[in-house]
Amino acid sequence: MNDSKYEAVIGLEIHAQIATQSKMFCSCSSDSFESEPNENVCPICMGFPGQLPVINEEAVKKGVKASLALNCTVPEWSKFDRKNYFYPDLPKGFQISQYDQPLAETGWIEVDLDGEKKKIRIHRLHLEDDAGKLTHIPNGTLCDYNRSGVALMEIVSEPDMRNAKEAGAYARAMQAILRSVDASNADMEKGMMRFDASVSIRPKGDEKLYPRAEIKNLNSFRSLESAIAYEINRQIGLWEEGNPQSKEITVGWTDAKGKTYFLRDKEGADDYRYFPEPDLPPINVTADFIDEMKKELPELPSEKRERYLSDYGMSEAEALLVSNDTELADYFEQVVQISGDAKRSLTFVLTILLGFLKKNGLEVHESPVSAENLAELVKLVADGKISLNIAKGEVFEEMFETGKDAEAIVKAKGLEKMSDEGELEKICQEVIDENPQSIEDYKSGKEAAFFFLVGQVMKKTKGQADAKVATDILKKLVG
Ligand code: ZN
Ligand code: MN
Repeated sequence: MNDSKYEAVIGLEIHAQIATQSKMFCSCSSDSFESEPNENVCPICMGFPGQLPVINEEAVKKGVKASLALNCTVPEWSKFDRKNYFYPDLPKGFQISQYDQPLAETGWIEVDLDGEKKKIRIHRLHLEDDAGKLTHIPNGTLCDYNRSGVALMEIVSEPDMRNAKEAGAYARAMQAILRSVDASNADMEKGMMRFDASVSIRPKGDEKLYPRAEIKNLNSFRSLESAIAYEINRQIGLWEEGNPQSKEITVGWTDAKGKTYFLRDKEGADDYRYFPEPDLPPINVTADFIDEMKKELPELPSEKRERYLSDYGMSEAEALLVSNDTELADYFEQVVQISGDAKRSLTFVLTILLGFLKKNGLEVHESPVSAENLAELVKLVADGKISLNIAKGEVFEEMFETGKDAEAIVKAKGLEKMSDEGELEKICQEVIDENPQSIEDYKSGKEAAFFFLVGQVMKKTKGQADAKVATDILKKLVG
């Protein structure tokens, strides 16, 4: 396949559950993760006649915060509309969404592609409520309305992405931003962030947009990237047969089959017969309110990234990894602050702590080693009290297992570095006496023989000798 003649045009719609206790228009709990089906429902979110919805203020606040973090413009007025369609997961018979006056418009975010930056524009961000969940069984369909009415924001990008990797980077950056401003937990395993991806192909150099396929309901980064890559190849195939897609379609994706499949022709705005929601007032966002929200915005992941690059000498990949994970970033910064040693803190957090957490299936907030304790360990190494190897090995392992602090472990096990030079010199002499062949090899120019001797000293002292001091003593003794 010669794909160099063609270019993919990709846009994403992201639905993110807003981090609020109650639903968008009623006081039902929006956390149904451990609830029985239909436990968190009421006449409002079940669409009973005569019930009046009330706007969840917290949801608006968090929507505005997210909009500001995405560099969007938040107009003074926006409003809710009814999006009408009939489906069993929608007890009201319509979704309350925002049509022609969304909460926010025209923003952008910058994504990091292996150190190169690309700006992806945001078309709009609007508020809406979620539908229920259907489970199909052999002789019918089960309806669970716990999710019905949960507050969502829908973030629509411009078609600025050109391949699956860019779409993945955009989606990850979005998750990091929404989490950092506490607008959404964006936990995909709990369905809190879902993607619809629009994909079309055009001959390179062509500016116009061709009919797209919209891939619905992708709920992991991996499915997102795989589905887009598949769809790009499928459509390029059609172009090469001289038979490109002629109308807009909606497709689904299954991870197991690794293929997209046709669902229906894509619905347009007309299909939904939008009209203004008569039961809700418009949303008024004043300049003062925006100022207030701006003041509450924390440092964003992209700002963190810049600071890490300049202040801590991290690599691009390290800075991206840490800054995109609010929990990890907070933990890391606490370790640096207490230990005062950014470089060593980074090693301990990224290579040692993360490795142990991963092996044990733990999240950063579940770490048995607190940031304070890890900082203490970093300090012990930085001050030359214990060797790096002992710190990484025995001490850290015990900290992880028992949650004890570093100094207590070092004291109990007698792991302090051997600082008595007389003692160390005695051991060096022993090693020399025991290894005459190595001394000869070293004297005839074999550097490796010398490293062997240093290794023997480390072994005899169970790693407690300072390797540099041992090297100096050995050199002096061998002459
Ligand atoms: Zn309710
Ligand atoms: Mn939507």
